[in-house]
Amino acid sequence: MRIVVVGGVAAGMSAASRARRHDPGAQVTVFERGSEVSYGACGLPYVIGGDVERFEDLIARTPAQLRGRGIGVRLRHEVTGVDAAARTVTVQGRAAGRTVTEPYDRLLIATGVRAVRPEWAQTDLGGVHVLRDLPDGRAIQASLRGARRACIVGGGNIGLEMAEALRSRGLEVTLLEQAPEVAGRMLDREYQRRVRAEVERGGVEVRCGTAVEGLGSRGGRVTEVQTGSGPLRADVVIVAVGVQPNTELAQAAGAALGQTGAVAVNARQETRVEGVYAAGDNTESTHRVTRRKVHLPLGLTANRMGRVAGVNMAGGDARFPGVVGTAIFKTFGLGVARSGLTQAEAGELGLDALSVDVESTDHAGYYKDAAPIHVRLTAERASGRLLGVQLVGQPGSVKRVDVVAALLHRRGHAQDLFELDLAYAPPFSGVWDVLLVAADRLG
Ligand code: FAD
Repeated sequence: MRIVVVGGVAAGMSAASRARRHDPGAQVTVFERGSEVSYGACGLPYVIGGDVERFEDLIARTPAQLRGRGIGVRLRHEVTGVDAAARTVTVQGRAAGRTVTEPYDRLLIATGVRAVRPEWAQTDLGGVHVLRDLPDGRAIQASLRGARRACIVGGGNIGLEMAEALRSRGLEVTLLEQAPEVAGRMLDREYQRRVRAEVERGGVEVRCGTAVEGLGSRGGRVTEVQTGSGPLRADVVIVAVGVQPNTELAQAAGAALGQTGAVAVNARQETRVEGVYAAGDNTESTHRVTRRKVHLPLGLTANRMGRVAGVNMAGGDARFPGVVGTAIFKTFGLGVARSGLTQAEAGELGLDALSVDVESTDHAGYYKDAAPIHVRLTAERASGRLLGVQLVGQPGSVKRVDVVAALLHRRGHAQDLFELDLAYAPPFSGVWDVLLVAADRLG
């Protein structure tokens, strides 16, 4: 069995490892156009901010370790074509400049996403960056030397993580967001405001409702960001305005795209082309709450899709269970988490949803360091079926999002949540945890 994997980060490497484990006789080759594989891109802001010492710390396994596990890794090799009828891929070796044809029995396309670069950001100017991979991280790090002012464009989770990272490095930071608030794709408006307030407390100037119109430069380096409300001086500009799935190779193989614009697969991660699988950020999945197709490019999803694809490519039978839209991030002293749908998203889908808000402390109020936590729990008005949860509070406290995520997976109701025997001791929660209080109010 010859298994070829395109893309060597989360989905690709999970698939390669699983395939080898399932069928130790399989010949597994991973082609990666970059110079590194098997690393945690999620850690990049923390290296830049100084919480993690070195970029190399993010690497889970080196190519040599992977080869020791029987996985062939070909770095700086870009797969440029697929002939699904002949079951071959065309591979261009960047160093040698050679093009070769490689046969496969099963092919996984795990090519991830790329950062969206608006027209004004399509430039080679020094100091203008996106953040997707290790080279981007190193380039930002290099740009920070001698820099005093940074401008982050985009107030999503990566923009907000970078705001904290660059403040930690002592820069003056302005965050520009076109939408009326930050964290717009994740939270309802009231919760977005809490996030903005925290970022402002951290010393970042946040300008919402502000679109970038262009960049100014001198000597090949960016010097200012031009907006409708005037120019802003900047030595470094981080563009974090969204991502777009890398679907070209899958399309070249004959795979279909779904409604979301990402690659369409079945629960076995098979595309419509026999022998061709897709997994990770380039692939859409099914939302278990709405039963709709979604494109939610996240780390666990990518790893799990890769694992499923790996088992199936090696002759097993695994299924991807779908997602419930769980996400979490930290900015300054605040943890932000959500699962399922927000009230606004439920409304857009035509669901009659009811939300309750609970404001309390993350553990017993009389115990030291009790801090505020805000929870919004959303359910279907008539049935009480849980639709979603949003939490903001101290970083550790919002991980309780997982309790609701578990119930969302099982199409649970507010009453099911209320009846749970959750852990209690004063340093961890109130005797009635905030989630139980919220469920009780909804029930
Ligand atoms: P990728 O990691 O994008 O890997 C795809 C690989 O394919 C790339 O290395 C690319 O070079 C290679 N490739 C593409 N085309 C070809 C080709 N034709 N030939 C050869 N190679 C090719 N997720 C979370 O859940 N939580 C977080 O906190 C979080 N934080 C993040 C922070 C940052 C800054 C970033 C960038 C991402 C973050 N993510 C987070 C997202 C998470 O990193 C991704 O979901 C995950 O890396 C996706 O893995 P993947 O294998 O699908 O794609």
